[in-house]
Amino acid sequence: MAASPAVPENRPPEELNRAVILLGPPGAGKGTQAKKLAAKYSVPHLSTGDMLREHVAQGTPLGVKAKPIMERGELVPDSLVLKIVAARIERPDCAHGFVFDGFPRTVAQAQYLGELLKQHGFRRPFVIHLVVDTALILRRITGRRTCKTGGEIYNLFERPPKVEGRCDNDGGELFQRPDDREEIVAPRLHAYHKQTEPLVAYYRRLGLLHEVDASKSVEEVEQQVCKTLHHARSKH
Ligand code: ADP
Ligand code: AMP
Repeated sequence: MAASPAVPENRPPEELNRAVILLGPPGAGKGTQAKKLAAKYSVPHLSTGDMLREHVAQGTPLGVKAKPIMERGELVPDSLVLKIVAARIERPDCAHGFVFDGFPRTVAQAQYLGELLKQHGFRRPFVIHLVVDTALILRRITGRRTCKTGGEIYNLFERPPKVEGRCDNDGGELFQRPDDREEIVAPRLHAYHKQTEPLVAYYRRLGLLHEVDASKSVEEVEQQVCKTLHHARSKH
């Protein structure tokens, strides 16, 4: 009997054709998992936090407005964030879906996103709520370090780089986000509970919410996220 053919290396990725929303408090692991999902489906990882930090770094008028708000650990006004998102999903690389990390963060943003997805011909999004023990959040946020060049995310306590201060992938310098200092964590969590957590009930009511225990290891969470998405895709 002939051996079964090997899976070709250039096999096209599974098509997503949807928006995936990763919901959860700061430090839940949204960025970490979004990068993995985006790579798996060959779609863009859309982090509004990264987009805003880019505006801040470039000193654009929007960045100038957002900077002090982000430094205080508060949410940037919906109008500014929505403008960035609407422009981003117009780009051709978003045609087959995308993974949101840190968006939407208010009910108004979620409502607007619903309209935007309809306008672009997308079906309803898959929403994955990363549920994490609050005791873990402080450790995850204060230990977070990010590569300046490639954006790879590390954690000094949980996922340290092989060489201190340097990215394993490209040797880039690792930095700590200014809002990851311990004193900014409380206002960020306050903003989460007050403005973002209502989205859990919002998406549950719409029948779009899927929960994953994000207290587990990165690999276990990844497995659960993929399983959840696979299951949701086969149902809808
Ligand atoms: P978010 O985008 O939700 O704020 P990140 O993905 O940036 O969260 O993760 C926050 C920190 O926690 C980072 O330092 C990351 O390396 C670490 N981390 C993420 N997921 C896990 C996990 N499942 N177990 C341990 N550490 C994790
Ligand atoms: P993040 O990188 O997702 O942790 O976001 C960092 C900061 O950017 C937040 O604390 C907010 O100040 C701002 N931000 C990111 N995304 C949003 C959003 N969708 N709405 C409002 N503010 C946001």
